[in-house]
Amino acid sequence: MTNADPQELAKFSDLAHRWWDPESEFRPLHQINPLRLDWIDQQANINGKRVVDVGCGGGILAESMARRGANVLGIDLADRPLKVAQLHAMESGVANLDYRSVSAEALAAEQPGQFDVVTCMEMLEHVPDPSSVVRACAQMAKPGGWIFFSTLNRNPKSFLFAIVGAEYLLKLLPKGTHEFARFIRPAELTRWAREADLSTTQMKGLEYNPITRRYWLSGDTSVNYMIACRKPAKA
Ligand code: SAH
Repeated sequence: MTNADPQELAKFSDLAHRWWDPESEFRPLHQINPLRLDWIDQQANINGKRVVDVGCGGGILAESMARRGANVLGIDLADRPLKVAQLHAMESGVANLDYRSVSAEALAAEQPGQFDVVTCMEMLEHVPDPSSVVRACAQMAKPGGWIFFSTLNRNPKSFLFAIVGAEYLLKLLPKGTHEFARFIRPAELTRWAREADLSTTQMKGLEYNPITRRYWLSGDTSVNYMIACRKPAKA
């Protein structure tokens, strides 16, 4: 049994043709991308590194990491977003970038300890068993490697902002994009990381101002947030 929800994959496939339109449903991903890219790069120094982007979708983060000189493999289980990612990479002539339809768990079994950096952004809240993906990401990383996750917190404020605000009032995202019950508290995510033998070294919030329509990094993890983890170096 693959750890994936076919309905979730279908949602992303249906919208895939608009992935690279910065004014589409994917506007939030386009907007947060420079922030998360810099944050990841500052810590992991991705130039020349082997990176796997888990749940890469249309490739917004994967392609931007390859442009910074990383050797990137993007994986996803939704076919149309992957095709869009491949086409976009071809058209923009970005080298060092590959895409594959494979689950995190299967790639971890196939290539354990092979990646300097593992990124898994805005994906865990769409998966039936997110802790299994966290374990797989830990397994894919080399000893001493970096693993980055981002997701949505679960509390009354995140319900109000991420669902009522983003899907119903501001219509930034299509209704039904997110399911509140699948949101993940930072304590849950860091516990899964710990159980996978990772240490969490940093946590950052991503705040949004609906008036200026801008995002910025902050210490407020109450809605969108990211964590940086490290796998212990070999003894
Ligand atoms: N990580 C990208 C895309 C986020 S959208 C970014 O932040 O820019 C969420 C992505 O997760 C979609 O592309 C969806 O197809 C993918 N996804 C959902 N469930 C998945 C699973 N079980 N395995 C792999 N990818 C999955």
